[in-house]
Amino acid sequence: MKLNLKLSFSSLAFLFSINMSLAQSDADVIFVNELHKLALKEGKSYDWLKELCSKAGPRIAGSKEYEKAVEISLAQLKSITNVKTSIQDVQVDYWKRGSSEIVKLFSSNGEVIPLVSLSLGNSISTDSFGITGEVIEVQNFTELEKLGDKVKNKIVFFNRPMDPGSITTFSAYGGAVDQRVFGASKAAALGAIGVVVRSMTTEIDDFAHTGVMQYDPKYNKIPALAISTQSAELLSSEIKNKGAFLYFKNHSEMIGKMNSPNVIGEILGSENPEKVILVGGHLDAWDVAQGAHDDGSGCVQSMDVLYLLQKMGYKPKNTIRCVLFSSEENGLHGGKAYAERAIKDKESHIFSLESDSGGFTPRGFTFDADTSVLKKYFKNVNDHFLPILEGLGYKVSIGGSGADIGPLKPLKGLLAGLKPDSQRYFDFHHTKRDTIDAVHPRELKLGAAAMASLVYLIDKFGIE
Ligand SMILES: [Zn+2]
Repeated sequence: MKLNLKLSFSSLAFLFSINMSLAQSDADVIFVNELHKLALKEGKSYDWLKELCSKAGPRIAGSKEYEKAVEISLAQLKSITNVKTSIQDVQVDYWKRGSSEIVKLFSSNGEVIPLVSLSLGNSISTDSFGITGEVIEVQNFTELEKLGDKVKNKIVFFNRPMDPGSITTFSAYGGAVDQRVFGASKAAALGAIGVVVRSMTTEIDDFAHTGVMQYDPKYNKIPALAISTQSAELLSSEIKNKGAFLYFKNHSEMIGKMNSPNVIGEILGSENPEKVILVGGHLDAWDVAQGAHDDGSGCVQSMDVLYLLQKMGYKPKNTIRCVLFSSEENGLHGGKAYAERAIKDKESHIFSLESDSGGFTPRGFTFDADTSVLKKYFKNVNDHFLPILEGLGYKVSIGGSGADIGPLKPLKGLLAGLKPDSQRYFDFHHTKRDTIDAVHPRELKLGAAAMASLVYLIDKFGIE
């Protein structure tokens, strides 16, 4: 095996260069490999994440903790040579959780069993007495609607799990999350008094996962809570046995509009300063955790792209702009405000890349764009960069990019999402487990290197 290890870098570079478009050379292969080495040895992402998690911690948009996160990330961006920083004011809806939720199951044998729960983001509060009701379990909205009047004055329990057989955890999440987002109003339309939702995770554990829910203004607002998957299993077996009653009480409040800015740092382009390549993640995180994977990781990786390119001595042709978006979790206010301004100012965004799938080992990128240009751009990415990206172990495909950069689609640039290994992402997502200890420094740093490599290639060669 020693022989393999001794395969020189230049011979690897030669292998990757076969079939490569004329535009790239061995020098580019060497550059992106050096970028990866630099990221692992001297990259800043992990240290920056540690600082964000320990000093700002849980940072829902609108909160004092979010203000602290703005201060920390501005200072981190300012520490990079040649980076110009700014903030963009964003009006967000500030929702605040009060004291801990209480959920009790009255079992068929007379026991009172506490369940592990969290209010969903935007949920209203119960009154100070809480609510009690018989629980009706459903798997989906069709089943709920068939029950009709039978759910009147009851608590509806949405218990469809994320599909454990789905290879991509994001697909499993997409297949189950409608219950969390829309379940309360669907149940309220039939007269229910509250809802509990099985937590969005493939694990069976005792952590409740919060996340955004929305009320349909046509119906009464009723309180909505997530319960841990273990609690969901227990509740379901009780219902199947002899039926079950729940008591719950939560405290939460919609404080209203607050200014909670986007944070921006950029290196001006040497040839086309008016053309922007954007890298970003969202700075806000749910109020129950440090938001290390979601999405502190994406923020520090995006900042590290600027640091790594600068440290490599690379002078970008286009402006490389890092944007840390506000309020992705609770209304996408930061992404919408940023796109509104970019569209109004007719800014050219040739490429935007978001990291918001956790700080795990990078596996590749998914690409998206306006339908009029998507096929052309994707072909160009394949023709121009695939040998280099595959040489680094990365795959490319058409797919979603990122929630925050999605609103930039009308500008007709190329959009992309970093795709890390997502198998364990939903173990941590929106729970108190999403802490710095859950992020591996090497995995996080490799993600930053992958992003910097793609940014370098597109800056140098374009996508036309
Ligand atoms: Zn996120």
